[in-house]
Amino acid sequence: MALVTTTEMFKKAYNGGYAIGAFNVNNMEIVQGITEAASELKSPVILQVSKGARAYANHKYLVKMVEAAVEENPDIPIALHLDHGDSFELCKSCIDGGFTSVMIDASSKPFAENIELTKKVVEYAHAHGAVVEAELGTLAGIEDEVVVEAGHESYTRPEEVQEFVDKTGCDSLAIAIGTSHGAYKFTAAQCTRNADGILVPPPLRFDVLEECMKRLPGFPIVLHGSSSVPQEFVKMVNDFGGSMPDAVGIPEEQLRQAAKLAVCKINIDSDIRLAMTGNIRKYFAENPSHFDPRQYLKPARQAVKDMVAHKIINVLGSNGQA
Ligand SMILES: [Zn+2]
Repeated sequence: MALVTTTEMFKKAYNGGYAIGAFNVNNMEIVQGITEAASELKSPVILQVSKGARAYANHKYLVKMVEAAVEENPDIPIALHLDHGDSFELCKSCIDGGFTSVMIDASSKPFAENIELTKKVVEYAHAHGAVVEAELGTLAGIEDEVVVEAGHESYTRPEEVQEFVDKTGCDSLAIAIGTSHGAYKFTAAQCTRNADGILVPPPLRFDVLEECMKRLPGFPIVLHGSSSVPQEFVKMVNDFGGSMPDAVGIPEEQLRQAAKLAVCKINIDSDIRLAMTGNIRKYFAENPSHFDPRQYLKPARQAVKDMVAHKIINVLGSNGQA
């Protein structure tokens, strides 16, 4: 199977009450870990590349690695997606360079400008066999170089979604209902603490999601910033020389609930970073004389695979849907 768009994946996910995982890729170990897990669990998967990943690894290297993964895992549908495209030129360059899906994120611009830019990207994408994700509303957190402080995010306004989708022709829509980018999704002041002193974040705004669903029946919704920041990995980082106090994410049960509704794509990046970093720190602490990168990247790759398998089964529900 060649790279596919997300059209068919989303249709089946919407009707089947599950979501497709969109995992960010930056290097070979991450590409391999994600696709091995998806392949073993017979799950469709989206590999996504941010502007920062492209700057780090080079567009060609990333595309060739993803193409290799497609060849190695012929039984599952794989889409290659641009995460947070910020200009027409970047989206065009990715579509011309083999991506099957792009996001144009003009959510920080006024409504009319967001429509205008999104529409331009949609026209180009559709003429070239690719699909487009757009965004309404603003998430808090850190995405590459863009920082939105907690408290300065804005929820999606459901009364805008229908006009936006009608006028732009976009294929899916990312909305803001309280998820957030990065490993520090909420300030301590926004959370409560449980009996173990662990931060408990405010619940997602399911009322906003349901209002959007009503206005866009059958239309795929996307959630960004949906890592759960599992405390076992935060502890692993902290136990082996790291310092990540009060890192907190979105509870997995809430994401599972969203996946049963109109949410067809859930973006997960920080959890993969955490799993890799925790395991590499542990490896270094336990094997101070080792210096062959293969020795510590092997358990890191395995950690990516285990994390993705956990997400497919427990959060996305996409196992067996390839
Ligand atoms: Zn995002």
